[in-house]
Amino acid sequence: MRIVYSDRYGIDIGPHIFPTAKFALVREALLGCGIAGPADFVQPSPASWEELGLVHTAGYLEKARAGGFSPEEIARLEMPWSESMVEGFRMMAGGTLRTAREALGTPARRPGPLPSGWGVAAHLGGGFHHAFPDHGEGFCLFNDVAVAVRVLTTAGEVDRVAIVDCDVHHGNGTAATLGHDPAVFTFSIHQQNNYPAEKPAGSLDIGMADGAGDTEYLLALDRALPRVFETRAQLTFYLAGADPFQGDQLGGLRLTRYGLRRRDRMVLLAARDAGSRVAVVLAGGYARNLEDTVAIHVATIEEAALLQ
Ligand SMILES: [Zn+2]
Repeated sequence: MRIVYSDRYGIDIGPHIFPTAKFALVREALLGCGIAGPADFVQPSPASWEELGLVHTAGYLEKARAGGFSPEEIARLEMPWSESMVEGFRMMAGGTLRTAREALGTPARRPGPLPSGWGVAAHLGGGFHHAFPDHGEGFCLFNDVAVAVRVLTTAGEVDRVAIVDCDVHHGNGTAATLGHDPAVFTFSIHQQNNYPAEKPAGSLDIGMADGAGDTEYLLALDRALPRVFETRAQLTFYLAGADPFQGDQLGGLRLTRYGLRRRDRMVLLAARDAGSRVAVVLAGGYARNLEDTVAIHVATIEEAALLQ
């Protein structure tokens, strides 16, 4: 299975609850366990400013590029601005697009009929679902999945896309950007009583109660997935957030590592059964012990690799 990664993802944002070291650690663990070999890894190119402009406003991109954010905008983003931060997020937006094309079997951009068969690829990054067209928030500068969707649908590379967002936080930026796009089905399953306070409606939103565990979560997911895949999406972006984990500092659900692996398998199998190719992106993960976050992401990649 193709795995997209760049060393540029280890953005220096100072001491922070967002562990940007996790990207490299997941890569090391995949290599160390033999789940992936060096030849499986693919280096992305950064998303171009034109590609980012299919989602983000010109004014926002100009501020991001030149460091023109106000203190209020930086506070909302919850990260310090730097050129390398912007470049890291631009690389990750390009990485999500590359992952989608690897899953589609068309790593070089190629509109037209899709190759037959099923495909899955994984991105050791991405899932910045709190970024809106005109602002960033919650550690999310550019909405990589929305950018990839817009690039692929605008170019006619795919017609129907699904987003399965299993991060513990609602995908507010994604819903606001793509929630009314007839080519896209946006599904979010999250903790209702958590950030973001305002949750714009997507195609399907499930807000779980505080403290919900494996059983309640997996039951709700199992009921929702047929609705997602009856849309016959050709491509699914799976945001496999590690933050529904019981040991997460920014989440209030109580899924176990075993439950999260079951979740991954359910989503991946449902997509495969529906003939939808899958681009996996990591999204959030803020466990008290970084090793837990890394292990959860590694398990997701392993589940995907087993199906390939
Ligand atoms: Zn999250």
